Amino acid sequence: MKIVMLGAPGAGKGTQADRIAAKYDIPHISTGDIFRSNIKAGTELGKKAKAFIDQGLLVPDEVTIGMLLDRIAQDDCSKGYILDGFPRTIPQAESLTAALKEQGTAIDFALNVDVPDAAIVERMAGRRACLKCGATYHIVYAAPKKEGICDVCGEELVIRDDDKPETVSKRLEVYHDQTQPLIDFYSRHGVLHTIDGTQNMDKVFADICGILGE
Ligand code: ADP
Ligand code: AMP
Repeated sequence: MKIVMLGAPGAGKGTQADRIAAKYDIPHISTGDIFRSNIKAGTELGKKAKAFIDQGLLVPDEVTIGMLLDRIAQDDCSKGYILDGFPRTIPQAESLTAALKEQGTAIDFALNVDVPDAAIVERMAGRRACLKCGATYHIVYAAPKKEGICDVCGEELVIRDDDKPETVSKRLEVYHDQTQPLIDFYSRHGVLHTIDGTQNMDKVFADICGILGE
């Protein structure tokens, strides 16, 4: 099963992708997490990506597409995967479609988690992230057991640099301009499903399971 998650930054893609990955036993691949771990490790890729991420801009397609295609070529992806945060531009979606076509396959589901901009701002303001294992929390809606500490790995939680209010509005602008057109793209490919992302996390997940099947 090959799935892509669509939706604005902060819509809940990562939260749901984690649950889907656990239930359907497929890897959760987040391009944002790959960039953040490279930034933390101080790699060349991380240095290149950081300048764009901190400004709320997309990392250029030349960097991102190759990185993602390499990742999905790995052995753990043979049964499928869930892509969270990729594709984010039409050229990314076209490259993915072309690479899959060469293998005689295609994306099975594009899940669009729909949340209006006003709710996004509140979600991003309360988001706390673990840069070690990628787990995500919210100070109100998904608080960790111990304040400021990751339940999964015990690392200290941080506010992502790009979750600051001034960067969030830029990211939303970039989303509407460059990523939202993917909703039409996947609709034309006949695999688009839109879910009301303003519901609580369990209800969003139940709707997704209804789409993906047992
Ligand atoms: P994305 O991966 O789309 O950027 P996240 O999954 O990181 O979004 O979610 C953004 C923030 O909103 C996180 O703090 C998360 O805990 C919280 N969140 C996710 N889904 C919901 C929901 N259905 N209701 C309330 N808060 C949510
Ligand atoms: P995310 O964790 O998905 O919110 O991603 C954080 C940031 O990483 C984004 O705001 C972008 O700057 C960058 N990024 C992640 N995925 C992509 C992508 N597919 N294309 C370009 N930039 C990306």
